[in-house]
Amino acid sequence: MSWEWINVWYIASAALFIFGLKQLGSPATAVRGNQLSAVAMLLAIVVTLFAKDIVSYEWIILGMVVGGGIGAYFARTIAMTEMPEMVALFNGTGGIASLFVGWAALYGTGIGAFEGFTIFLSVLIGGVTFTGSIIAYAKLSERMDGAPIVFGAQRIVNAALLGLIILCGVVFCLDPVPGSFLFYLAIVLALILGVMVVIPIGGADMPVVISLLNSYSGLAACAAGFAIGNNILIVAGALVGAAGIILTNIMCRAMNRSLSNVLFSGFGAVKEATKVEGEVSPINTEDAFLILEAASNVTFVPGYGMAVAQAQHVVRELGELLEENGCEVTYAIHPVAGRMPGHMNVLLAEANVPYDQLIEMDDINPRMDNMDVAVVIGANDVVNPAARNDENSPIYGMPIINVDHARTVFVLKRSMASGFSGVDNPLFFGDNTRMLFGDAKASLSAVVAEFKT
Ligand code: NDP
Repeated sequence: MSWEWINVWYIASAALFIFGLKQLGSPATAVRGNQLSAVAMLLAIVVTLFAKDIVSYEWIILGMVVGGGIGAYFARTIAMTEMPEMVALFNGTGGIASLFVGWAALYGTGIGAFEGFTIFLSVLIGGVTFTGSIIAYAKLSERMDGAPIVFGAQRIVNAALLGLIILCGVVFCLDPVPGSFLFYLAIVLALILGVMVVIPIGGADMPVVISLLNSYSGLAACAAGFAIGNNILIVAGALVGAAGIILTNIMCRAMNRSLSNVLFSGFGAVKEATKVEGEVSPINTEDAFLILEAASNVTFVPGYGMAVAQAQHVVRELGELLEENGCEVTYAIHPVAGRMPGHMNVLLAEANVPYDQLIEMDDINPRMDNMDVAVVIGANDVVNPAARNDENSPIYGMPIINVDHARTVFVLKRSMASGFSGVDNPLFFGDNTRMLFGDAKASLSAVVAEFKT
């Protein structure tokens, strides 16, 4: 197929990508949006394979079989709770793929300064994205401590690394030839920089890092598209890059922090939260049932623990029983609850919770003073009043769901352990808080059983 026709199909594919992205904006249309985007990707791949410049298919088929096999294996075996780590790895593989595409493009013909520049960009951004994502993966999977890793002169080291990379880039672009020492040096430095920029970022700020790396993987692909002169790669990369930046902005707003503050302050590195002490008031499922039965409005506040317990279905069941009992039921969604953007929405949608019952943090908080019961299901950091009250807390300033303003708060968790940020939670010691210890699914199932007897 000629490149003219290929580009016509690419336009169709790009249009499908854009419609797909638009539909991802609402839970009601998100599945269709995802399917549409998958069709767009398939179209882009198939059309590219018809390009007359492809002289041999062996390596392409081998790559597809090996890559597809690994992807299919992980897609089948990965637990839902491991999806955030998986997303981090996806970003990383996108980055390394762009690095290799850019590198390979260097061996093409007619490489001038502009081509050299795009090759250099794809290698640089791809390298940073790759190692940065590996660190994000290690932190999310708790293979690495989530606490920020900081040392003296860290910013100077990072600035020096960046400066060296830029220097290598300028000299390389003047004469972009394969085998250039500075090119290889820049690759190594970019890989180191990826590690260096992510290690000082603490657990609670990881949502921003994940979305930023997502954006970088798009930008790297976009640069690789320029490097090999492939229009759909440019468009698709730019879409991912832009969507990632928008998401980063949303996550920054959710944390009430600027991007530069997240990236450069070593969040949580120097502050030590005030130690929280006091008496906790445990409650059993029978008493919890009696309070819920008498409530006229209840809000469920899901967090990462709901994903771990896979409690979303039984939460919906309890919600329905409460509604049958004449209670108004809502689900309060914090933008960074769980371990990936939209994590709670995905789980609750899977359990068929009606979309109109999902209320965002800014809309639920004004209603909290009149809430009879707030049921916190495996959430911790996103309901931690220290973020509001304790200036010494590493999460100070992060907006939270004000469950402590409700008349009664049930906290469903297994122990007194802290959340992802490692910060103690004074909510557990509140006068109106009752701790319902145990696995969230088991506790909720027991309350449901009480309703049914
Ligand atoms: P947290 O990680 O703060 O707390 C989760 C709580 O769930 C834990 O305290 C744990 O307590 C409890 N839990 C675990 N398993 C179970 C279970 N089976 N049954 C009951 N409870 C359980 O979660 P939040 O959702 O409140 O906050 C998210 C955190 O993750 C924030 O710090 C956020 O910044 C960060 N983050 C968010 C990302 C995103 O994009 N959303 C990405 C990366 C990080 P216990 O062990 O006692 O049961």
